[in-house]
Amino acid sequence: MNWLTNYIKPKLESLVKKKNIPKNLWIKCQCEKQIMIYYKDFEKTLGVCNECGTHMRLPSDTRIKFLLDDGKYEKIKVPPSKIDPLSFKDKKKYKDRLKQAKKKTKEDDAVILAEGKIESIEVLLVVFDFNFMGGSMGINVGNSIVKASEISVKKNIPLIIIPSSGGARMQEGILSLMQMPRTIAAIQKIKENRIPYIVVLSDPTTGGVCASFAMLGDILIAEKGATIGFAGRRVIEQTIKESIPDNFQTADYLLEHGMIDMVVHRKDLKNKIYKILKFIENKN
Ligand SMILES: [Zn+2]
Repeated sequence: MNWLTNYIKPKLESLVKKKNIPKNLWIKCQCEKQIMIYYKDFEKTLGVCNECGTHMRLPSDTRIKFLLDDGKYEKIKVPPSKIDPLSFKDKKKYKDRLKQAKKKTKEDDAVILAEGKIESIEVLLVVFDFNFMGGSMGINVGNSIVKASEISVKKNIPLIIIPSSGGARMQEGILSLMQMPRTIAAIQKIKENRIPYIVVLSDPTTGGVCASFAMLGDILIAEKGATIGFAGRRVIEQTIKESIPDNFQTADYLLEHGMIDMVVHRKDLKNKIYKILKFIENKN
């Protein structure tokens, strides 16, 4: 029966065997309809839903590739500190949540530092990944922003930060809140050295991130549809005992009220940043 095991069985197996289908071939839109988007189309539209125009949250490395020339960049490592000051535990231990987030994003923490070029202008990018514990800011994120400021000053290159964050990382208690003044001081160094600092507010920029370095950009760009605000809607309504408009804390609302400089579609983002950098360069 050799022909059966040697010939027929492998033939049959090859017919039945599942091909290696990548897990993320389809991506679900963040909109209410949860439209399925084919990954190739997702890349083509830079993560913007063709149906509803939602600018979806992006993994940090995808975002960097969209923005920098030829998708090329040098990743700058910031040694992660192993800190769990409160030995924090809710439904899960903080340590376990960190492990999970690392596995999910393949990153050490919620931000990546990347050096690359935008239309040949050298820049330093700090990009948040919402998939890493809601892009929350703890000690490591603070360390990364301080490091970014140091490099930016040393090399005299513009700093661009793209937050996507729920705010401070409560699992690190007061140490996470201390990252607010710490990152503000780091940005101050950039300003003292007259280096351009641009912030691209992406969805969502909230809490302690919104209340610190994120609103200090020389130029504040918001992505279309991004939620930007400090306290949540419900908290504000309960505090002031008034209802607030539907579009409150959206990019367009902030633009109307003079809080930011522009709202940009993702497809125009790179060109917009380039034009701003070029304008500043010429002025200098
Ligand atoms: Zn959609």
